[in-house]
Amino acid sequence: MSLVTQEPLEIAPQLAALVNEFQLPKPLGFGQAMAPIMATMDYCDGVWSDLSLKKYEPLSLDPACKSLHYGQLIFEGMKAFRLVDGRVALFRPELNSRRFNASARRMAMPELPEELFMQAVMSLSYHLRHAVPKGDGESLYLRPLMLATDVGLSLKPASTYKFLVIASPSGAYFASGKVTALIERHDCRAAPGGTGAFKVAGNYGSSIRADIKATSLKCQQTLWLDAVEKSYVEEFSGMNFFAVIDGELWTPPLSDSILGGVTRDSVIKLAEGLGVKVHEQPIHIDDLISAIKAGQCRELFACGTAAVISPVHALAERDGTLHELTNLKTEESLSLALRRELVAVQTGAKLTAGDWVKPVSQMPC
Ligand SMILES: *Cc1c(COP(=O)(O)O)cnc(C)c1O
Repeated sequence: MSLVTQEPLEIAPQLAALVNEFQLPKPLGFGQAMAPIMATMDYCDGVWSDLSLKKYEPLSLDPACKSLHYGQLIFEGMKAFRLVDGRVALFRPELNSRRFNASARRMAMPELPEELFMQAVMSLSYHLRHAVPKGDGESLYLRPLMLATDVGLSLKPASTYKFLVIASPSGAYFASGKVTALIERHDCRAAPGGTGAFKVAGNYGSSIRADIKATSLKCQQTLWLDAVEKSYVEEFSGMNFFAVIDGELWTPPLSDSILGGVTRDSVIKLAEGLGVKVHEQPIHIDDLISAIKAGQCRELFACGTAAVISPVHALAERDGTLHELTNLKTEESLSLALRRELVAVQTGAKLTAGDWVKPVSQMPC
């Protein structure tokens, strides 16, 4: 494990008091409770201001600011985990920094140098280390975001931007029970040449209608197909897709319409480490359904920072047809084995060669 490379920014006594007074809500929920401090930086004339840690409070935005009208708005999702030794750590945060900059480039927004991104997420997590919940599956969810703040309605790239990191102590993303995903055969989430491979706010707004449809059919997720042929599996609205077929792992290859998850990459590496063959290959929805019916595909799962690895028990069609997977015993399930492996790495119970875990402080807290 690497040690902390940067000293966390000091905070004012009033802010430290706010953090001390902060009580974790019960139940925690996911992304509901907000930590009392946030990190901010402003961009103007080609330069990022110094990092500042502030009280969490509403922003004051001009109603004509460009992010509100033209959607120059990107974000990231990551977690500060409690390690088995009591310290708090981030998981592969440099990948979030790189992806944030890839999103920024796609949206003609300024990049944030990796050391500034790290300083912001590390400092905020350090000062909130006592607010990282200790329960099973609980963590401090971090949400970095950047928005254009220029005022004016002309469709031009902005020259001023605000970067923020807010934090939410959170529990499991899926409360409990079985997850069914509705195959979306009409709307599409992302098209070739579009913004689907990036964490751009508008991608998620345009997926909500399908998610509402899914919920009305008692499904918890939308499974998106490719925009051109409406035939190839892409991913869920905020998670990547995996299938276990004949004991091997299948996931669609990354493209400009699939978001490259940190969890997806970690799952592939952990599976290979366990000797499981991984295919990054296009998956035709008809072939997938046939493999489920034939009993060759015995597991599907969704993976992402929020959901970790969540088994999907059935795919559904709008007419109510269900393609159900066979119930596996716990010890037969590859998704549960991978989940155990991933959680062991994220909590420092198991060390990886890859230096994936970055503690935010030297001491248990
Ligand atoms: C964030 C996200 C994921 C998962 O990425 P992680 O880095 O694993 O959290 C997958 N798909 C979409 C569309 C996402 O927004």
